[in-house]
Order: sequence, then C-alpha cells, then structure tokens
Amino acid sequence: MPERRPFVRLPADVYPVNYGLCLKPDLIDFTFEGKLEALVEVTQATNQIVMNCADIDIITASFVPEGGEEINATGFNYQNEDEKVTLSFPSTLQTGSGTLKIDFVGELNDKMKGFYRSKYTTAAGDIRYAAVTQFEATDARRAFPCWDEPAIKATFDITLIVPKERVALSNMNVIERKPCPEDENLVEVKFATSPVMSTYLVAFVIGEYDFVESQSTDGVTVRVYTPVGKAEQGKFALEVATKTLPFYKDYFSVPYPLPKIDLIAIADFAAGAMENWGLVTYRETALLIDPKNSCSSSRQWVALVVGHELAHQWFGNLVTMEWWTHLWLNEGFASWIEYLCVDHCFPEYDIWTQFVSADYTRALDLDALDSSHPIEVNVGHPSEVDEIFDAISYSKGASVIRMLHNYIGDEDFRKGMNAYLLKFQHKNASTEDLWDCLEQASGKPIAAVMSSWTKQMGFPIIVVDQEQQGNDRILKLSQKKFCASGPHSGEDSPSWMVPVSICTSEDPTCSKLKVLLDRPETTVTVSGVAPDQWVKINPGTVGFYRIQYSSSMLESLLPGVRDLSLQPVDRLGLQNDLFSLSRAGMISTVEVLKLMEAFVNEPNYTVWSDLSCNLGVLSSLLSHTDFHEDIQEFIRELFTPVGLELGWDSRPGEGHLDALLRSLVLGKLGKAGHKPTLEEARRRFKDHVDGKQVLPADLRSPVYLTVLKHGDSATLDTMLKLHKLADMQEERNRIERVLGAISAPDLIQKVLLFALSEEVRPQDTVSVIGGVAGSSKQGRKAAWKFVKDNWEELYNRYQGGFLISRLIKLTVDSFAIDKMAAEVKSFFESHPAPSAERTVQQCCENILLNAAWLKRDANDIQHYQVRPVGSSSEHGHIGAGNYSYLRLNHDGRIILHMRSLKGDADLYVSDRTLQPSFDTYKLQSVTCGRDVVVVPGDFVRPVGIGIYGHPSHRESEFEMRVFYDQTVPQNPFDSGLYASKDGREPKQSAQAEEKEASIFWTILIGLLKIVLEILF
Ligand SMILES: [Zn+2]
Repeated sequence: MPERRPFVRLPADVYPVNYGLCLKPDLIDFTFEGKLEALVEVTQATNQIVMNCADIDIITASFVPEGGEEINATGFNYQNEDEKVTLSFPSTLQTGSGTLKIDFVGELNDKMKGFYRSKYTTAAGDIRYAAVTQFEATDARRAFPCWDEPAIKATFDITLIVPKERVALSNMNVIERKPCPEDENLVEVKFATSPVMSTYLVAFVIGEYDFVESQSTDGVTVRVYTPVGKAEQGKFALEVATKTLPFYKDYFSVPYPLPKIDLIAIADFAAGAMENWGLVTYRETALLIDPKNSCSSSRQWVALVVGHELAHQWFGNLVTMEWWTHLWLNEGFASWIEYLCVDHCFPEYDIWTQFVSADYTRALDLDALDSSHPIEVNVGHPSEVDEIFDAISYSKGASVIRMLHNYIGDEDFRKGMNAYLLKFQHKNASTEDLWDCLEQASGKPIAAVMSSWTKQMGFPIIVVDQEQQGNDRILKLSQKKFCASGPHSGEDSPSWMVPVSICTSEDPTCSKLKVLLDRPETTVTVSGVAPDQWVKINPGTVGFYRIQYSSSMLESLLPGVRDLSLQPVDRLGLQNDLFSLSRAGMISTVEVLKLMEAFVNEPNYTVWSDLSCNLGVLSSLLSHTDFHEDIQEFIRELFTPVGLELGWDSRPGEGHLDALLRSLVLGKLGKAGHKPTLEEARRRFKDHVDGKQVLPADLRSPVYLTVLKHGDSATLDTMLKLHKLADMQEERNRIERVLGAISAPDLIQKVLLFALSEEVRPQDTVSVIGGVAGSSKQGRKAAWKFVKDNWEELYNRYQGGFLISRLIKLTVDSFAIDKMAAEVKSFFESHPAPSAERTVQQCCENILLNAAWLKRDANDIQHYQVRPVGSSSEHGHIGAGNYSYLRLNHDGRIILHMRSLKGDADLYVSDRTLQPSFDTYKLQSVTCGRDVVVVPGDFVRPVGIGIYGHPSHRESEFEMRVFYDQTVPQNPFDSGLYASKDGREPKQSAQAEEKEASIFWTILIGLLKIVLEILF
C-alpha cells in the first residue's frame, strides 16, 4: 500500500463539555444554517482552537471566557485534507471554562454521509426530500464543527428549526416545540440534554413519517417511524425491539439509559443501519415488514439488524471504543450478540447454525488471504477507518467472541460483561479493558488467548491424526497458519492459543474433552472411546480454525453426514472445510463433489444454503471453461430430490426454515435450468403478472430469477414494469438483485444502464451491477467494463465509502484468469480509491487463486462430471505428417484423454461420422508428456477422431484413453478405422491400408471397468 499521510489526533488543550447546537435545514435549497454554543474547558492557555470541520463555512466565531469579555476569532484556517479548522484569537484563552460560539453554513449533500438529503415520493407522487444524518465514522464534522473523535465525549442540547408540518427527531425526547418568531411556517423543536456521548452517535432527522409506538416491559417508549401511510410495516420491528430491550437489560444487568428509542426507516441510506443513541436509522429493507409482501428472509434480516443496533446502545454508545482501532470490539460484539438476541426472540429460526454459514465461514475465507489484516489495526486518517468496516471487524470479530464465550461459559461471560459495562459506562475503553474484566470473572488467561486472535491476522489449520490404544483414542494435533493458497510453509508459522473441543459419536452434541492448544503440536488422549466410534474436533463449529483430518478419521465421519447423526452445524462445517481445502489445493475438488453428493437427503436449510453457496463459487469458476453446463447438471441432480420433496406450495404446519429452504432449492434448480422447475416458474410468473394469482413473497425471488435467467427482452421488460409498480422497497430490491441473470448481451447492457438510472436508489446500484457480474461469464465482463467506463460517476456517488469497496468486490472477485489480476491492479493504480485499497488487493489475490484452482482441478472436475463407469485405452504410433482416424461408436457422454509419449501430435474431434471433413475438426495440440482432455459432449455420434503426427518428429507415440458413462458395446472404438497418409482425403480403410499408414493400433486394455467410486 502507498504510504499513509501522517495522522495526528486533535490537541487536548481545549475540549468540549456541552454542545448547544441549533440547526436550520432548508429542504428546498439543500443548505443549512447552524449555530454552535459549546461549553468548553481550556486546559492549557492558547490562542487557537483546533477542531474537526469539513465542507462547512464558518461565518463568525468567538470565545467567551466564563465571566469575561467575548473575544472574536480573527482567522479560520481550514486544513481540508485533515478535515480540520484552526480558529485563531487575537489574545490568549486562559485556562478554565468558556463558551465557544460559531455561526456556520453547510450543504445538505447527496452523498449519504454527514447531514444529507434523502429523496422520497409521497403517496400523491410528489418528489420530496428529508434531511437526515449518518456520522459514523467521521462525518459529524460535515454537520457542525466539533471534536470528532470517539473519546471526546460531551453532552448535547440540540434544537432544530424545521417546517411546522415536518417530523423532527434527534437522540433525545422533545422538551419544547414553539413557533419560530421569524417565520410562521417554521417551528423550533428543542430536545432534552443527552448523556455524555461521542459525536459519531449524534443524529437528527427532519421529514414526513408515520409511526407505531409501544412500551417495553422496562418502561422505555419505543417508536418505529415509517414512510407516511405505512405504519403497519413498522409493527414487526416494534415487536422485536420491545422484546429486545428487556433481554439486553437482563443480559447486561444495566438498564437502557435513555427515556425513548426511535427506529426510523430512511429512503437513501448507505449502510444497513446506524446505532445513533436513541434514534437508530435503518434502510427501509432493514426495518419494514409487510405481512403479505415480505419474505421470511427479510423478517429474519430485520430481527438481526434490530438486535444488532439495540445491542450497540450499551456496547458502543454507553461504553465507547477509545479509538477506531477498537472498532472491531463494537462491531464484533454486536454482530455476535444479535444472534443471541434473535435466538431468544425466535428460537424457530435456528439462527446459530445460520451464523456459521453467514459470518463464520465468510470470515475464514477472507482471513485466509495474504491481504487480510489483523482484527486490531492501527487507524488514523478517515479513509483508513472506512476501510475496516469489513468482514474481519464484523464477522471474524463476532466469530472469535463466540469462541471466547464458549471457552469461558455463559455465566462467567455475563459476569465479566456486567463488570466491564459498569466500570466504563459513559466513558471509553480498549480491547484490553474487556479482557481484564473477563479474565477476572473467569480466572482464565483471556488476554493471552485473545491477543493471539486479534493482534495477528489469519487463523490456523488443525491437522489431526488418531491412533487407537485399547479403549483410548490418541489424537495428534498440530497447528499451522492456513492460507488460501495452502498451509503456511516454512518454520516461521505464527501460532495461536486455540481452545479445542472434542466429541465422539457417543454424543455428537457434547464436548467429551476440552484442551487449549498453546503450542505447535500436542498429543491428547480421549479415554473411553471404542474402536468403532468416530471422533470429531470442534463440535458446534465454534473454534475459529479449519481442520484437516487424516483420511481414516474423515472416512469414519462421512456416514454421520449421510445418516444425519452429525449435528447440522457440523455437517455444514465439514463440507465447508473440505471446500476450502480444495480451493487451497490441499485436496482435489472432486473429493468435495463426492462429499456433496452425500448431502442428497439433507433436510437442514442452512446446510443446504452453505453448500449451495459453495456450488455457486464453483459454478462461477467453471464458467471460465467450456464445460460449465456439466456443473449445472450436477446441481440439478443434487437438488432434484429435495425439490420434489418440498414442492411449490407450503404445507400446513410448515415453519420459517421450510420457507427459506423452498426458496433456495427452487431458485437453484431454476437457475440451473431444471426443466420442470423452469416450466412451473414460467406458469406462475405469468399468473402473477396477469393478476390471476399473486406469488407468495417467499416464491418471488426464485421465480424471478428463473424466468430471467432463461428469459428474453419481453421477460426483462415485464420485470422492469413490476419494479416500477412496486410499492415496497423490499420488492424493488428483490427485482434489482436478479435482473443481472438475463443472458443476452444487449439485455445485460440494458440492466447495467438501469443500475445508474433514477429508478434505482443510489445505495442499491451496487447490487444491480453485482448481480450482473455474478450471473455469467458475459455478465462479469460487461459489468467490469461498465464500472471502468462509469468510474468517475460511481466513485463520486459513494465518495469512497464502503459501498465502493463492495462494488469492486462484487464486480471483479470472480475472475479466474491471471491477466485480469494485473488489469484490475493497474486500473486502480490509475484510478485510486484509498478506502478500497485493501479490497482491490484482496480481489487480485482471489483472482490469482481462482486461476490456479482452475488450472489445477479443471480436468479432474470435468472427468468427474462424466461419471465414468468404464474406460478403454489405445496405444499407437504415427509417422511424421500422417493422419489417423478412428470412430467411436457410443451414445453416452465420453471423455478423450490423450497423452503424447514421444513427439507431438494433434487431436481432432468431429461429429462427422464417415469421411470427416478436415475443416470441421476441433483441434487440440498435444505436446510430448502432456495430457489433453476433450469432452465431445455436443458431437453427434458416432464421433470421428483424428490424430495428426507432427512433421518435426519421425514418429510420435501416444496413448489414448476413453472414459464413458454408460455400458458400452464390447469395443467402444468402431470396427472401422480410417487412415490416410496425406490426411486430406480420408477414406474408409481396409486392414491393408492401416498397415500402409504405418499405424499400429494395439488394444492394450480393451474394455476396462473402472470401479465407480461412489462417494467415499
Ligand atoms: Zn454495528
């Protein structure tokens, strides 16, 4: 990475105690006027005050010492790059209290950060704007000059001057609302004094909203604000929030400290949600649920996001990180406890299994890259803060906290948390402070264990082997850093303090033994394990590491996948580990495909979801080959039984997870071109569009995806019409995400243009482009070109926020050609995106990994797809410049595998059976010692095969093996062999001509049945 600008924090000689802040936004001209009267302490005499300030014009500034004369500032020196302003005073400000007064103006920008405007349409169809805020991490300084660092806490007295018919909200409750003396159309809304808080948690919203209201059992007023006319859609979130607040109060043993909490849906919003104290802002899709039109996954998403943001009210808002280096603690913790909370409110979601698929495996994948980073990183400049809002902070953070919770046990964990919150409430804390509290509560070496996970990047792979001694199982465990390109080689592998649990087939849900692996390797004895029992490491898939079992251990676990005796989360974990090992080149991808087939009777949604996700990765990889269709067939075969079982319509008594599974499976089958699914999807889509039968919300995504994937311009037009008519943002997003599935190049262009149109909200453009890139080979290329062509507009739109990182990742991460890594790198060298630098590096690394993976395993995967039940070999010689032809008489799918033993030869394949014409041949050159594999899948049988001996070699020698997937006649090679010396006019050969052509065909092996390795 290029060198960072040196960064210095604000000087400590003046700090704020209270901000008296009055803002008057103009919703027509998109500007605002502000008045700040901050009570400050001067700790060291000075004649200047340095504050954060960005995109704000200061009109006047003065300082009034307590009991003294007002001193007007004589200079405002803006340091734009550092987002600071220095106010100079003609005389010294003495130590003690004083009031800093600043009048300023700013712009209600359209960049979704700071104090910005958010566009919405009224029921009557008018376009209007709300004024809203998003300050984290460092954008409060765009709304008012301030000390914009998390450790500089102060109280806030906020007043908003707004049009009288608009709703005005801030962190605290309203204490006064009176007409504005200067303008009868305006009102002054004054809010109660807040507790001391960090600037990034301040918020205000001015707009038109309805709300639903309730009280939590602990007496907090909860309101969910929705667009006008949609108050009903706030009910679900209201129910979650009122259940959640007492849950946290009980868990932390600390009550929620404010009198009210508002949750509000904002039309234009970059993140998912923001935990502003007492006024939590959300994207509409993360808060609003319509009983008829919302699908099960949206419901679950809303529950998780509400749980996350409310947890921050304690963990983040009440106790705040000392500096952004500890951001992970905020985010990791909230991302963990949101699951605890949802599990409490909705046990039927089986949400912890979903955690493993959604956060844990995602974090492992990212953290295996050389371009990952430690959980704790030193950050300075604002662009570096934006950069760490990534899956390492959120998902790895959550995963290591889950591991820690499991290591400590719930009781001691809660005890430690309570001590931490009480000790640091209304203050700031560091990661070490939490470890101290947990260490005292549990008596375990928390700091030592956890620092190995938070201060160094990556994680280990635990290699396990076993030996039976009487009734004891002796396990040899060793650890090494796991890298996406294979395990760390060399002596200097970092190591971790790894809490390792072990279970056996006696009770797969319960740890039989727990050890702390605190060295490179160790031996562990598990007593009382019969020889026929299996032993599994990491039950519950809690430890943050991958596992490589010895082949005997792995084999013993596999029946547990098929008979479902392994816990779902462990079936998932095993599959995911093997998938990751295959990508790292430690096992063949074919081994994983075989394992996946063992899941054919799998009933669990999350297990399917994770497997489906990995198959999606593989499918995307194989889209770089000409046998992409084969993996589609594999997917169709794998998902057909569960698809038949589920059917299209929900049955009485079905639950949340059945709905999710049906949606997943039908989508997968439809996308892979499963005919019955496609036909039914088309029928239902037509009925939906014609208004005959509205699709249930849970079926919309799979149906939309299926019809688009196999659709034409009329399908796309219909879908765009549905988008236009949609009243709910969830429905619009649902459509936007699948539009990219369309195949025709001109329609792909149409979708890309649509992504940047007014029809799509700015924060959603990214997922439309990402949908195009993720759908097909053509889509990927087109999306990348589109991003390059429109870079300036896109970059400007997101101002380098994290959406730009997401856009880059979605667009280029799945390329699998070496030269694309260079292309991506060079594009971003000339078009720098500072906050996305690491994402670019990670993408380039992923592209190279994909390319290596493809080179390594493509042949094997292709072989496997054909499922050979038999093979046949030929061994032959061919003279310089000679051709030889033979005919394969076989109806099924075959693979030709040719190896040149001496000299070079070319291999031709043709579907012209007799007298094949030279021009129509497909050509593959085989140089000496190399294999070439051809799947003549599309050729009309029998297939004609030609071999040409290169003129540069007097004689070439080769071996040809044919794999086929059905029982074949005695000899797969047709009796007629064609040969010709000149190769131009191949003619039907006779025995004599064969000899003349100096070709000796020796059937070496004849018909050889390969034992089909079904699974393991
Ligand atoms: Zn958060």
